[in-house]
Amino acid sequence: MASKRDYYEILGVQRSATEDEVKKAYRKLALQYHPDRNPNNKEAEDKFKEATEAYEVLSDQQKRQRYDQFGHQGMRGGSDFHQYQDINDIFSHFGDIFGGGGSGSSIFEEMFGGQQRRRGPRSAGEPGSDLRIRLKLTLEEIAAGVEKKLKIKKWKTCAACSGNGAKPGSHKSACPQCQGTGELRQVSRSMFGQFVNISACAFCGGTGQIIKEKCHTCDGEGREQGESTIKINVPAGVTEGNYMTLQGQGNSGRRGGPAGDVIVEFTEEKHDSFIRNGDDIIYTALISYPDAVLGADVEVPTLSGKAKVKIDAGTMPGKMLRMKEKGIPHLNAYGRGDQLIQIQIWVPHKINSHEKDLLKQLSDSEHINPSEEEKSKSKSLFDKMKNVFS
Ligand SMILES: [Zn+2]
Ligand SMILES: [Zn+2]
Repeated sequence: MASKRDYYEILGVQRSATEDEVKKAYRKLALQYHPDRNPNNKEAEDKFKEATEAYEVLSDQQKRQRYDQFGHQGMRGGSDFHQYQDINDIFSHFGDIFGGGGSGSSIFEEMFGGQQRRRGPRSAGEPGSDLRIRLKLTLEEIAAGVEKKLKIKKWKTCAACSGNGAKPGSHKSACPQCQGTGELRQVSRSMFGQFVNISACAFCGGTGQIIKEKCHTCDGEGREQGESTIKINVPAGVTEGNYMTLQGQGNSGRRGGPAGDVIVEFTEEKHDSFIRNGDDIIYTALISYPDAVLGADVEVPTLSGKAKVKIDAGTMPGKMLRMKEKGIPHLNAYGRGDQLIQIQIWVPHKINSHEKDLLKQLSDSEHINPSEEEKSKSKSLFDKMKNVFS
């Protein structure tokens, strides 16, 4: 980063400059470098921001004192210090100084006839509201990504009048209150001279036009209740609470106002077999005692079908097996999570007399019961199981 210029130097004032001198200097620079006067001129924009930053500090007694004492270092990290990124931000912050009442329709626009933020008659009425929708997804849908079609009830633009609210074929007339400009001007005086405040005309809602005959279909509202089907491409890897914004697909505005958004929030259905843990999924495999002792190949479900898993001879319950990259794709990165398989051993409730005899024989044989040493290890086994999820 280039080193910062001295604030006094930027404004071209002495260190002893009075509040009024600082203000005058800033005003001169602001007028000279204002973006509306220097379209597509990055250097002018930077100068404008620089001057504004300098002014913000030097016009505030406390900040100026701190700056005088500590220089730029003193300004960093201060909670009241604000780095301007956006020109509009500056407008809203300094609106009061320039007589704009903080609304953004400030002196700048009046002085330079700015294009970017100039009001003029608004072609559109009231903006429509947003619609929130919850969309349930299965784990399989989340893993693969899915296209969904949703039918939603919403306000749609009236087809008969194309949203303007006037009876088809009838004419609109200019608003008598604002003479068709859509805005009201109020002249006021301030330290810089005479200013004009601009606000939207309430009589015509800022449209500048009055409807003589209302559209019968929508009673002049420009919109009607209807249904619409929206298509959503859900990317793989979304999580409960993630949402997508479909711009301009919400409720149509009144009298041609811009439509709101549809905000789709994802919720996750509980899965019969899997538990989600981040982008990993966990499956509990129930195997028989003989399979645990002797080893076996078992079949387990996956998010995309089935897989064979080899259980080693002598597998203890609670053991976790990992199938790499069989989990859920990472939403904002390459790769995917794993499928973890936790081994549990099935203990039967019902056995016949033959099985009973076999088990009785077994229970007395040499390697079936845990030794004292094995028993003492069981605590550490429990710890291991606990740590698997962390
Ligand atoms: Zn209509
Ligand atoms: Zn009006």
